[in-house]
Formats: sequence, C-alpha cells, structure tokens
Amino acid sequence: MSPDATSPHPAVGAGSAAGLGTAAIASSGPADDDAVRLTRHVVADLHHELVRNGLVAWTSGNISARVPGTDLLVIKPSGVAYDDLTAETMVVCDLAGAKVSDDLSPSSDTASHAYIYRHMPGVGGVVHTHSRYATAWAARGEPIPCVITAMADEFGGEIPVGPFAPIGGEEIGRAVVATLTGHRSPAVLLRSHGVFTVGATPRDAVKAAVMCEDAACTVHLASLAGQVAPLPADQIDALHRRYQNKYGQRSRLPPVSAAPNPQGGCE
Ligand SMILES: [Zn+2]
Repeated sequence: MSPDATSPHPAVGAGSAAGLGTAAIASSGPADDDAVRLTRHVVADLHHELVRNGLVAWTSGNISARVPGTDLLVIKPSGVAYDDLTAETMVVCDLAGAKVSDDLSPSSDTASHAYIYRHMPGVGGVVHTHSRYATAWAARGEPIPCVITAMADEFGGEIPVGPFAPIGGEEIGRAVVATLTGHRSPAVLLRSHGVFTVGATPRDAVKAAVMCEDAACTVHLASLAGQVAPLPADQIDALHRRYQNKYGQRSRLPPVSAAPNPQGGCE
C-alpha cells in the first residue's frame, strides 16, 4: 500500500533523538504534575480494555502514553498482574526510557516505546500484545491481506510484518518505526513475536490493537476455506478516506467505549 497524506503517523525524523537534545526533561511544574496524574489514570484504565477484549494472557502486553506537553511517558510496570494495575502502579519515564521517580520497574519494552515516541512525534500512545490470531500471522511472518472493508477502514491496507527483534532494548522500536514509516497501518506484526500498534492517543492505539486481532481472526477463518482476494486499491483508498474523515459522531457525542468481549478472539 502506498503512503498516504492522511497517514496517522508523521514522517520519521521530525522528532529524532538528535532533535530532542534534552530528552530527559522531567515534569517541571503543577501543570505537568496534573498531566502526569491524568495520564497515569488513562493508561491504567486502558490496560483493563486489553483484558476485556481478550488480547492478553497473564502479564503479557503493555500500554504506554506520551504525557502531553512534557518529554515524559507513562507505561505499565513489569510483571504485575492486570488486576493489580492502578494509576499509582504505572511508571513514569523520560523519552530515553529511564525512570524519573520512585515507581516500580517499568515494562521490559520501555526502551522500544521510548524510541517510537522519539521518532514518531505524532504518536501519543503505543500498545503491545501477543493477541493470539495476530500473533499466529506473525509466527508465519505473513502480512494480513486487506480483504475486508473493516481493514480498509482502520488500516488503509494490509497489516505489515516487521523483522524479528530481540526484547529488552530499543531494537523492537526500530523495527516498528521502520515498518510503519510510509504505511497507513497503525499496526505492525513483529515476526515471531506479536503486535505493536500506535495512535494519536493511547485509546486510538488500543482500538487498533482490538481491530487488528479481529481482522486477523476473520481473515484466518476465511483463508481456511479457500483463497481470499484483496480489495482493489481504489476501493481501499475510498473506504479509508470515508472512515477516517466522515464515520461516526464528529462533534456532538463523546467517544463510544469499545464493546467488551469477555470471550476474546473469535471463539
Ligand atoms: Zn512481547
């Protein structure tokens, strides 16, 4: 799928590490403190959406958010049960991935989340899961073809596959940025690993993770019974444009919550 001017992720480089200079700037006043406090609540609450939508097992998966107006991010602590996640247990880090206060140890993917924020300045939220159908595609190293309208709407084309990358450093972040650059999809399958999604807000990134798993399941089921045909490029473009610019309540109503799916996946 060709790049598109309506891509949700601005070009790589505008927020490069070189441009940050003072990436380790921490909260510096009451307004920043309020922003950090609010972001802690938002990120903690969104983690429960991962459970409600059946996207995570045990303590796998994580969400982070950029703290608006600061060079900080908030992310899930490492290895803590979802039932125990609260605003207070969230971890505040700088955009180099270093903890800035006396919080728990952050997710082992923190350096990669930080890399994504440094290199994709329009991204306000990042989600990582090992959701089962999408990860099955990742295990095969196969992109999910754009064969249904819901994929054209949300992803603007296929969901691409990025290279395998080791866990713990910023290599996963590099793979995510390299794969999503020039692509309309907010989701990438990391080979032999799982899913990363990005969004202008952390809620947008969670939505992309939910939609990615739903598409992975549907296209998998369709593929079991025969060949699936990608939608024509012009139809994908038209669907994506309509969904991104016209769909939904644009001014009068607050965003609708994602519908809980306690069953998870498509079972
Ligand atoms: Zn993982």
